[in-house]
Amino acid sequence: MAERERRHVRVAVIGSGFGGLGAAVRLRREGITDFVILERAGAVGGTWRDNTYPGCACDVPSHLYSFSFAPNPEWPRNFSGQPHIRAYLERIADTFGLREHLRFHAEVLGMRWDAQALHWEVETADGQLTADVVVSATGPLSDPKIPAIPGLDTFPGTVAHSARWDHDTDLRGKRVAMIGTGASAIQIVPALQPDVARLTLFQRTPPWVLPRADRRITAAEQWLHSTFPATRAARRGLLWGIREMQVSAFTKRPDQLGLVEFLARKHLKKAVKDPGLRAALTPGYRIGCKRILLSNTYYPALARPNVDVVTAGLKEVRGSTLVAADGTEAEADAIVFGTGFHVTDMPIARRVTGAHGTTLAEEWKDGMAALRGATAAGFPNFLTIIGPNTGLGNSSMILMIEAQLNYLADYLRQLDVLGGKIALDARPSAVQQWNHTIQERMTRTVWSRGGCDSWYLDANGRNTTVWPGTTSGFKKATLQVDLAEYEVLRPPAGPPADRTAPPRTEVAA
Ligand SMILES: Cc1cc2nc3c(=O)[nH]c(=O)nc-3n(C[C@H](O)[C@H](O)[C@H](O)COP(=O)(O)OP(=O)(O)OC[C@H]3O[C@@H](n4cnc5c(N)ncnc54)[C@H](O)[C@@H]3O)c2cc1C
Repeated sequence: MAERERRHVRVAVIGSGFGGLGAAVRLRREGITDFVILERAGAVGGTWRDNTYPGCACDVPSHLYSFSFAPNPEWPRNFSGQPHIRAYLERIADTFGLREHLRFHAEVLGMRWDAQALHWEVETADGQLTADVVVSATGPLSDPKIPAIPGLDTFPGTVAHSARWDHDTDLRGKRVAMIGTGASAIQIVPALQPDVARLTLFQRTPPWVLPRADRRITAAEQWLHSTFPATRAARRGLLWGIREMQVSAFTKRPDQLGLVEFLARKHLKKAVKDPGLRAALTPGYRIGCKRILLSNTYYPALARPNVDVVTAGLKEVRGSTLVAADGTEAEADAIVFGTGFHVTDMPIARRVTGAHGTTLAEEWKDGMAALRGATAAGFPNFLTIIGPNTGLGNSSMILMIEAQLNYLADYLRQLDVLGGKIALDARPSAVQQWNHTIQERMTRTVWSRGGCDSWYLDANGRNTTVWPGTTSGFKKATLQVDLAEYEVLRPPAGPPADRTAPPRTEVAA
C-alpha cells in the first residue's frame, strides 16, 4: 500500500457543505488538526454548489441562515441567492484554514469498523485511510431523486433535475415541463416563465405559499451591522425568536394554524383571479404539513397565459408527449424534475458497515433512528450531522448543525478524558428510548395530523426526518454527551484477529 493509502487520521469528515465545513471549524477550535474532509466533488459548498437552477435562493433569512461564529454583515438580501451563499462557504474554507484538510474527488465508497483496531477503514475514490472517528455530513438533500417514469428514455429532449441544472441547454422559446411543486420548483417556475414558449406544471399536490418578505439589505444596514456587531446579533436574535415562537403550533397545536391558512389563501386570491385555477392551487391539507413555501412570484407566474397547470403527476412519457395520471397530455422540449432527494434512504447508509457486519441501511430497514440525531448502535465513533429527526420545517438548519457540533466536540472531549485507544458505541436501549420519545411527540404534530403525504415521511409513513421541537430544545439535548447512553469500547486483549477483509464497497447507480 502506498504511503498516502495508509494514512491514519483522528477524524475523517465526509462532505464539505455547511455540515462538513462547520465540523471542520469546530475541530480546529477544539485544537484538533489531525483530520481530513473527504468531498466527492471538486469544490466546497454542498447544496449551494450543486443547486444552480435559475432563481435558487435560501428561504430562511440569510442573517439566520449562516454560522453564528462567522457572521456576514454584507448579506445583500434578506433571502440571499445561491451565488452569495456559495461564496460565503468558500470564504469559510479560507478564513478558517480548511483548505489543507480538503480532499476533493474523494467520494467515500465504503467504510468498515475494525473492532480490533477500534477505527474505521475508509475506502474513497482517492485511496484508503483509517480514522478513529468519522463525521458523516453528506447532507439530507444532496442526492437527487428522479422517479421511474415509464417511457422517460424515449423523450428526445433535455431531462434535468433541479439540483443538477444543465447550463448548456438554452430553454428560451422552448416548451418546458416542470415536474413537482416543492421548494425548488416554486423558485424555478417564475424564473423560467417569462422566457419559455410554454411552461406545463405537473402538480400532484399544491403547496401552501406565503408572501416572501424579501428585499435588498441597504448599504446603511450593512454599515451598521459591520460597525456595531450588536445590531447584527439583534437582527439574528429576532429572526430566531420569531421562528421559535411558531414551533408549538406545528408540534402541539396544529389547529392554531388556521390564521396562517387564511393569509395564504389571501395571497393566492390576490395573484390568481381565475377561480378554476385558484381552486386547483388551493391545498386540501393543513398548512405546515408539507414545508410552507415563500414566494411573491410563483402565483403570478402561474396566472400567465403561457403556463398550464396539470393537476396530476406525470405518469408516462411517449416521445415528446407527457401523459399525466389523469390522462392530460402535453408536448415538451425539456423536462425539469423538481422531485426532491433521497432523504429517508440516505445513500451513505448503504456504504457504512458497522461492528456487527451489517450496513447502516440494513439496520435502518424499518426506518432511520439515531441517538440525539447523531449516533447509531453498532456504529462506534460514527456521528452524523443532520441525522435522523434533526430537520426543521420553519427555521434555519444551521442552528441544528451547530447544536450537533457541540455534541461532536463533547464526544471528542469524552474520548480524551477516558484516554487511550477507545470508542463509544450508542447503547441500543438509549437509541430506542430517544426515538420512542420522538415518535410519541410526533403524533401531535401537523406533519402527522395535517392530512398530507410528504417527504418528511419514510416508506412506512414514519416521520424520521423532522425534529418535533424548538431549536433551543435540541441545543439543550445535544450540549453534552451522556456517557450512560454509551458503551465504552477498548481494544480486545490477545492477538489481533484476521483483519484482511476489505471494507464493503457499494457504488451508487
Ligand atoms: C435548493 C435548496 C435550498 C435550501 N434552502 C434552505 C434554507 O433556506 N434554509 C435551510 O435551513 N435549509 C435549506 N436547505 C437545506 C440544506 O440542505 C441545508 O440547510 C444544508 O445546506 C445542508 O448542509 P450539509 O452540509 O448537511 O449537506 P450538503 O450541503 O448537501 O453537503 C453534503 C456534501 O457531502 C458530499 N457528499 C455526499 N456523499 C458523499 C460521499 N459518499 N463521499 C464524499 N462526499 C459526499 C456532497 O457532495 C456535498 O458536498 C436547502 C436545500 C436545498 C437543496
